[in-house]
Amino acid sequence: MTTTAPSTRSRRRGDRSTDGPDILCDNLVRIYRAEGLEVVALQGLDLQVAAGELVALVGASGSGKSTLLGILSGLDTPTAGLARVAGHDLGSMAGRERLAYRRRTVGFLFQQAAANLLPYLTAAENVELPMMLAGVRAGERASRARATLEVLGIPDCGDRRPGELSGGQQQRVALGVAVANRPRVLLADEPTGELDSRSSDEVFEAIRRANTEFGTTVLVVTHDALVSEQVARTVGIRDGRTSTEVLRRDEVGADGALGRVAEEYAVLDRAGRLQLPRAFTSALEMRDRVRLGLEADHIAVRPTEPAARPDAEEER
Ligand code: ADP
Ligand code: MG
Repeated sequence: MTTTAPSTRSRRRGDRSTDGPDILCDNLVRIYRAEGLEVVALQGLDLQVAAGELVALVGASGSGKSTLLGILSGLDTPTAGLARVAGHDLGSMAGRERLAYRRRTVGFLFQQAAANLLPYLTAAENVELPMMLAGVRAGERASRARATLEVLGIPDCGDRRPGELSGGQQQRVALGVAVANRPRVLLADEPTGELDSRSSDEVFEAIRRANTEFGTTVLVVTHDALVSEQVARTVGIRDGRTSTEVLRRDEVGADGALGRVAEEYAVLDRAGRLQLPRAFTSALEMRDRVRLGLEADHIAVRPTEPAARPDAEEER
């Protein structure tokens, strides 16, 4: 027999008091099956995002980014492995918890801003709508909508309808809708993909403001190198797995000036797996198997056979 201990974790207001990372994926697998065909979209993905972090997710088209966000948003379920957000286990979550989770714990932002907005409501009314569904009182709704639009840099847009706003403004209103209930986690899938570079900057600045002002943990998928260069941590995804991480920090250089330092790492998972960059493996014609050697301070990876032809022959 098992005894159920009373939960010490608060489940209110986006579960702010749970311990551990806000996003935790361990060996996450998602297989799509259609007409006898199998697509392994996520193949053992590992990811941790701490509370309050802002992380950019980058990767080629088809690498599994949207699949990951679909699972984290509670729309889709994993085939195997663990996905946990703010203490919610997304593999085992039942209908009612799933609904509350989608309403309060996570907010989402997609590429098409208009898809997130009702055209006949003003910007402020759009932002109030999710609060209404969550049972927030009218006075509180209005003041929170105003505060939200102000933080996102569009304080004068409250009375305008989506059709009267620019693309960048629309996307920031959509962001306002996403964070209206102050979710613990914001998931954004290429939110600046359809915008010109100036609007894109404004939207990304608004996402950063939501991160710092509301304390929202953010995971944002982006193709925009300028965007990913601004964040402290970029996670690269390749073939359904996290493969690299770039960490950036500000440092005082030899000339005394403050500069951004970026360092790239390969991700080593708990089973000891890592992905070697394709540029490296193809340069040394590594395929199928390699030789490993443990050195004093590093691990050497060598091709199994010497290069087929000596260089001298190549040059003839
Ligand atoms: P990304 O967002 O990085 O471009 P996706 O997560 O959309 O990648 O897709 C990952 C892989 O899964 C791709 O090979 C894609 O074709 C496949 N895929 C995505 N959604 C489905 C689906 N509903 N049914 C079958 N295959 C899918
Ligand atoms: Mg996608």
